[in-house]
Amino acid sequence: MTPGQETFIVVGAGHAGGRAVEALRAQAFTGRIVLVGAEPHLPYERPPLSKELMQEKPGFDFSFIRERAFYADNEVELCLGVAAAELDVAARRLALADGRELAWDKLLLTTGGRVRRLDLPGAGLANIHTLRTLDDARAISAALIPGARLVIIGGGFIGLEVAASARQRGAHVWVLEAAGRLMGRAVSPDVAAALMDLHRTNGVEVRLGAAISAFEGGGKVAAVVTGDGPLAADLVVVGIGISPDVELASAAGLEADNGIVVDEHCRTSAPNVFAAGDATNHFSPIYGRHMRLESWLNAQNQAIAAARNMCGVDAPYAEVPWFWSDQFDANLQMAGAPQEWDEIVTRGDIGARDFISFQIAGGRVVGATCVNRARDMAVARRLISRQAPVTPSALADADTPLRSLLG
Ligand code: FAD
Ligand code: NAP
Repeated sequence: MTPGQETFIVVGAGHAGGRAVEALRAQAFTGRIVLVGAEPHLPYERPPLSKELMQEKPGFDFSFIRERAFYADNEVELCLGVAAAELDVAARRLALADGRELAWDKLLLTTGGRVRRLDLPGAGLANIHTLRTLDDARAISAALIPGARLVIIGGGFIGLEVAASARQRGAHVWVLEAAGRLMGRAVSPDVAAALMDLHRTNGVEVRLGAAISAFEGGGKVAAVVTGDGPLAADLVVVGIGISPDVELASAAGLEADNGIVVDEHCRTSAPNVFAAGDATNHFSPIYGRHMRLESWLNAQNQAIAAARNMCGVDAPYAEVPWFWSDQFDANLQMAGAPQEWDEIVTRGDIGARDFISFQIAGGRVVGATCVNRARDMAVARRLISRQAPVTPSALADADTPLRSLLG
């Protein structure tokens, strides 16, 4: 590095971290960039872990966001397989777990989320997994031999995507969900019912209202103890959500409240410290409130916005949230983050898993959910962004082209 040049450090080499270092160079930042990551791998995107990789989908080849040569060519220094242990914002220093200490001018936290664990008797037995990393996915995938009995705890995104992939690998699958329906936080009851039907039709045994009290086995898990008695298992995947990884930020005195608190410019409460991705609770100018998102789109685009702001560009992060999930032949998509709405209008047939539903408030579309209607969702996202007035009957009418409502 040339003397006098600035040093930017990115802590967390996951999806957001990987996109941020790219964006810093795209922004023509010529100073020193250091990317610190606790995982030993180059940055990668996580969606395939529960889908194509877990299915061993023919033709699928897992790839990292960029090959190693990209980082060398762009002079991004990689410190992988080592966690950042202590952040000193006053002295602008970062201590790594291996004893190294780095000075910085600006720092970006992309520390993501940590999986929640079940603190129950037997939880330490072998073959009880969580799924967040590439290593987790490879370990689960290796155990998915045909006929294996897989018990999944949690009927959210992880649980249902792993269930679908495992069935396609010939495993016997049970999903134990504590609540009265699947994906309780993400979809409406009628969509949850359609997803439950999809899984049951494909041979997944779904149990709602499940209470798990212990795991049994000698060294290796042999059963999950539920309110209905023990359920034999060769393999268990626990997918009961994540919590934002705020440890480093909190210890450094940064404001954290359900995530590292950042404004629309991805600035934390400490000068020259930015944050992006699952770890943040960010202010959305669109919604006029703070929100925490756990999504691919947010990881990518908030990281890009953070990098631009670090480079002095005025780049507010303002985006309508969007998620997707693939389970068997169902492609589920959701857009928007409404807290309330006046009515829900549906085009298509929820039970047939071919529909799009619109949440409407004040005569405008504020949210949408679809299954196998990707093209309609592209229009719905534009309707949400534009906040143009709509007629509910036209939204529901299959003979009215959705595009015509864009005006
Ligand atoms: P992460 O990708 O979790 O990266 C954070 C990184 O920071 C990790 O590598 C962690 O080890 C590292 N780290 C943490 N603390 C430190 C430290 N102190 N020092 C150094 N490194 C540290 N979203 C969708 O929208 N659609 C999907 O289909 C979808 N599928 C998914 C499937 C799976 C299996 C998973 C796990 C997630 C999926 N997601 C999906 C969610 C999406 O992947 C996340 O929202 C996204 O990865 C968040 O990116 P991030 O960079 O903020 O966090
Ligand atoms: P999640 O989507 O929050 O779902 C967790 C599920 O487990 C919820 O239905 C939850 O019910 C249930 N649960 C909680 N405690 C339980 C218990 N003790 N016993 C049984 N069920 C319990 O989280 P996740 O599926 O674990 O996913 C983890 C992260 O990966 C999230 O950030 C998620 O967004 C991401 N991910 C995303 C995708 C995608 O977008 N397609 C795919 C995979 C993973 P309650 O809601 O009632 O607590």
